[in-house]
Amino acid sequence: MSLRIPLFPAPASLETMPTCGPLVDTFGRLHTNLRVSVTDRCNLRCTYCMAEDVVFLDRQELLSFEEIVRFVRLLVPLGVNKIRLTGGEPLVRRDLDKLVAMLCAIPGITDLSLTTNGILLAEQAERLYRAGLRRLNISLDTLRPEVFRQLTRRQGLERVLEGIRVARQLGFRPIKLNAVSIRGITEEEVVPLARFARENDLELRFIEYMPIGADHWERSKVYFAEEILQQLARAFGPLRPVPVGDGTAPAQEWEYPDGGRVGIIASISRPFCHHCNRLRLTADGKLRHCLFALEETDVKSLLRGGANDKDIVLAVRRCVWAKWEGHQINTARFLKPARTMHTIGG
Ligand code: SF4
Repeated sequence: MSLRIPLFPAPASLETMPTCGPLVDTFGRLHTNLRVSVTDRCNLRCTYCMAEDVVFLDRQELLSFEEIVRFVRLLVPLGVNKIRLTGGEPLVRRDLDKLVAMLCAIPGITDLSLTTNGILLAEQAERLYRAGLRRLNISLDTLRPEVFRQLTRRQGLERVLEGIRVARQLGFRPIKLNAVSIRGITEEEVVPLARFARENDLELRFIEYMPIGADHWERSKVYFAEEILQQLARAFGPLRPVPVGDGTAPAQEWEYPDGGRVGIIASISRPFCHHCNRLRLTADGKLRHCLFALEETDVKSLLRGGANDKDIVLAVRRCVWAKWEGHQINTARFLKPARTMHTIGG
């Protein structure tokens, strides 16, 4: 008789799944935050995200703006009130400001933001602002052109900095900077980025390098939160932890001695899955209950297959109900998802 130890605990039975009310999973976590990827395409080739010779989805594979809006409208009554637009690089999707305006028109969405690499931001910021967007997360791992090129396999640092300048001028607030921390590459970027953010009223967050890209991830390449904090303390004095707000934000915030904050998203060394409130909709219409999920729910087939709203909501509830406790990166059970970051969205 072979003893089969299940890799992951079986999710609670569907009989006990709530069929009304907020989107809750078997760990009692409420899901109020939906990240919507609008494309898998990008104008950069970050080494920790995608391969140089990547193949992108065909246009018709992508959800249309109308399909995205229909899906979001179904989730708002279930408690989803926070939407983040992501990619690939969302600004390469044509007329994105139209989608922003459509989403801003949905009652109940209290927070709409966009994650961008900033390359196209200077030229699109005004249209996005007029469409109603106010919050930005800009990926910026370095202020040195040679390191930018090393990490993104492209030029473009000046365009990103210009995008930040234009966005600040237009009044986007807050503007968050996301900087991935990789040992052997970005240690020298920590203090200059912190200075840049403090001088430009930007909310900087360092992100521990995660196994979600096309590259070969090794724990030894993670530059950990503790090390980043020590570096910041040497440069700016001892930092104080900021009490956690509602606990769902991935970043732990720290306050500089003279005021101002910096955040660290320590997915590896201090996982925050126990209060995760996030769902992800991929550009090709798959719903994922976790960035590292090994299974996903095909929403596109439902949207295009004539499913009624009730059936789509039921499929969403089932996806959430099946959500695991958290990523398994720190266990021997960890399996890297088949998808890489640019096909999921940050
Ligand atoms: S790893 Fe998954 S469960 Fe954990 S915080 Fe991220 S999305 Fe949530």
